Amino acid sequence: MNHSHSRRVLVSGLVVAAALITTSARTAVAVTPKVSADEMARHERYMRLAIAQAKRNPGRPFGSVIVDNRSGDVVGEGVVNMGANPMYHSEVVAMNDYIARHGNQDWANLTMYGTGEACPMCMSAMIWAGLPNVVYGSEMSFVHKYVNLIYVRAKDVIAAAHPLYKNKLLLGGVLSRETDQMFIDRAKAQTAPK
Ligand SMILES: [Zn+2]
Repeated sequence: MNHSHSRRVLVSGLVVAAALITTSARTAVAVTPKVSADEMARHERYMRLAIAQAKRNPGRPFGSVIVDNRSGDVVGEGVVNMGANPMYHSEVVAMNDYIARHGNQDWANLTMYGTGEACPMCMSAMIWAGLPNVVYGSEMSFVHKYVNLIYVRAKDVIAAAHPLYKNKLLLGGVLSRETDQMFIDRAKAQTAPK
């Protein structure tokens, strides 16, 4: 490599780096904020309800509840039910439950709790609804060892939806020891002798 060629490579590398910095600044809408002990206790309380939903389908332990942040009420809930409909992931079931009970409105005040990180379909559904707060237990990087899925992280779907969607909360790992264990137990049950 001669001298002028290596300089050109360096310059184009800097241009790429500058472009990456600009892109990340423009799309940095998903944040995992610092959460106080009180807030975390609240998130854990609702995550237990999502876990209870997930336990209705131990073979695919994805459960969700939707909470109205103003009242603290659970306004939608559900467990994955792909036997009925391939789109019936727990988040979609919970959103359909919410619409049936409260109408297709007022999404901005809601938080979605799920035992697993939202897949691209479910994260997209929340984006189209404008549901800005998303809390989950098990990370996709863990769940994919046990369940086939489309490996696109929720934060990346959120970033790709800029400026359509403004995320206010994306918080993972809530009660993840318990949610992770459900996926481990599922794998054990499937490999156990009949
Ligand atoms: Zn999903």
